[in-house]
Amino acid sequence: MPENQEILTLEKFHEALHKDIDKPVKDFRKKWNQAHRRHIKVHTGAHKAAWAKATVSLNKKIIIVHVNLNFKKNSLSDADYEKLKYLARTGIDKYWSRRITVAGNSFMVWVKAQHNYVNAIPVDLYVETDKDNYARSMNPATLGIDASFIYNKGWHNNTANADSDFQLVSAHEFGHSVLMYAGGMALSWGHKGSTGILSQAGKSSTPGYPKSGSIDVMKYYDWKKNFATLQRRVTDSIAMEIDVKRLIWGANIKWTK
Ligand SMILES: [Zn+2]
Repeated sequence: MPENQEILTLEKFHEALHKDIDKPVKDFRKKWNQAHRRHIKVHTGAHKAAWAKATVSLNKKIIIVHVNLNFKKNSLSDADYEKLKYLARTGIDKYWSRRITVAGNSFMVWVKAQHNYVNAIPVDLYVETDKDNYARSMNPATLGIDASFIYNKGWHNNTANADSDFQLVSAHEFGHSVLMYAGGMALSWGHKGSTGILSQAGKSSTPGYPKSGSIDVMKYYDWKKNFATLQRRVTDSIAMEIDVKRLIWGANIKWTK
């Protein structure tokens, strides 16, 4: 450890995490703002999402986040049900696992999605076989409405593309639960400002896909302005650091050595 680097404590980690997503903790307000007596909104939703549990190891600099989804079989065959569950889970793991920096310390975050009947995000799984229809998945992340993750078997001309697309879509739809929990409808339904909130359609200000580098898995891009192939989206999409912090903010946190 560099000489001038402060030792990271649980308290510092916690304060920094809240501050990074603009939701300072109560203690933070007391400690740092007493002099100014500024009004800072206290957020009571922190660490109460039933479907997410994070284990933070300050020594190993690893954070493991288990997220629960209740995948519903509907009319799928046993084989399709197992396949879609597997692809959805691995898609979420792939696009939501990444490095983040908290209070100047780099942590590897491993997100692990699992099927669970309770304390879980309810998800209806479907297969669309129509060759001419790309069926849109969705997750309003609103109590009483299940998310729908749809595998577009007919629209894609090969299984590998259909599989990759479904993994990416599952990661995106899962993210709606994260954004809704941490930021409400404007953040979630509005795709972080890139679509209208109720229409969920692109706006004139919606950007094209970035020409190179990371693609935000939660944003909506206008492919008519700048197109990205499925291959590029599969390779370069990732959850942004702030969204992974939002996920951890919502999760129950357990500390380990
Ligand atoms: Zn969306």
